[in-house]
Amino acid sequence: MVLPGFEFDEAATVAQGCLILSEFGARAKVIAGGTDVAVAMKKKLLAPERLVSIARIPELKRIDSSPGMLRLGPCVTIGKIGASGEIDKRWGAICAGARALGTPSVRNRATVGGNLGSARPAADMAPSLMAYGARVILTSKAGERVVSLENFFHGPGLSEMASDEILTQIEVDAPPPFAGASYGSLSVRSRDCNIVNVASFLMLEGPGGQIKGARIVLGCVGPTPRRALGAERALIGEKGGEALFTRAAQAAMVDCAPIDDFRGSAGYRKEMVGVLAQRSLCAAFQEALKS
Ligand SMILES: Cc1cc2nc3c(=O)[nH]c(=O)nc-3n(C[C@H](O)[C@H](O)[C@H](O)COP(=O)(O)OP(=O)(O)OC[C@H]3O[C@@H](n4cnc5c(N)ncnc54)[C@H](O)[C@@H]3O)c2cc1C
Repeated sequence: MVLPGFEFDEAATVAQGCLILSEFGARAKVIAGGTDVAVAMKKKLLAPERLVSIARIPELKRIDSSPGMLRLGPCVTIGKIGASGEIDKRWGAICAGARALGTPSVRNRATVGGNLGSARPAADMAPSLMAYGARVILTSKAGERVVSLENFFHGPGLSEMASDEILTQIEVDAPPPFAGASYGSLSVRSRDCNIVNVASFLMLEGPGGQIKGARIVLGCVGPTPRRALGAERALIGEKGGEALFTRAAQAAMVDCAPIDDFRGSAGYRKEMVGVLAQRSLCAAFQEALKS
């Protein structure tokens, strides 16, 4: 399959990229690693007049894991995130998402900004980032705005990002003491598109194990990654333990609205939400007790 014709711009700075996007609007498309864009163009699902590469803008490729916050440039590759000891130390579930994505060759090109920008309900990076309460910075010629990742996704392939905006940073606060998180995914074959993915984040009052905050994020079971709010409510104020996590996992099965497709039936997906939610809550709790 041959790519349709297009003009190619390589932005040297964010300002230059924003200027090109403001001029061409929806006729232009940002490209980072290209692992989604190039495939969509080959399949004729996408035919932008112009591709605006942001892959060589140095500030978009930085990882800054200062004590209070992780700042991820959108062009940091998934491979780099998966291999980062600094990220793994405090935001282990983000690394777990990165390690679950694709094959080494895909991870070496694919970027975290591209994974969010594609807004696929089955994407590996969104659930963990959402579970940690991540925000994204969107930049255009008009300036910057900060959007909670929870409000970023609008539907399959649709996001809060306008056609003249570049996602320029992902910010994640450092988890407080006695907090832990975990990510799990299930696919038909290893490295295939996910059938279900779940990330859990728990905050405890202290070493006693009473839960004061919880975020459970479910992927592949709705048009966007979504919080399992009923399951989260079931956890607050309770002392963590297997029986509680089983009850919360059952509530998570009610919190989702999967569809049937060739990868799995809606019923199977619901069952698997229960299994992965239970596992990820147990793992997040163990990490919170140790932190
Ligand atoms: C063989 C294969 C296997 C894959 N396996 C998985 C998998 O297991 N899990 C998974 O989640 N994904 C998977 N993917 C999908 C893909 O690799 C990821 O979504 C990847 O992270 C996309 O990043 P990219 O840099 O290649 O994005 P690109 O293709 O460059 O861009 C993707 C989209 O995001 C937009 N975009 C990119 N960066 C920005 C930015 N900074 N600001 C504004 N818009 C931006 C683009 O305009 C485009 O709409 C797979 C893809 C392939 C080809």
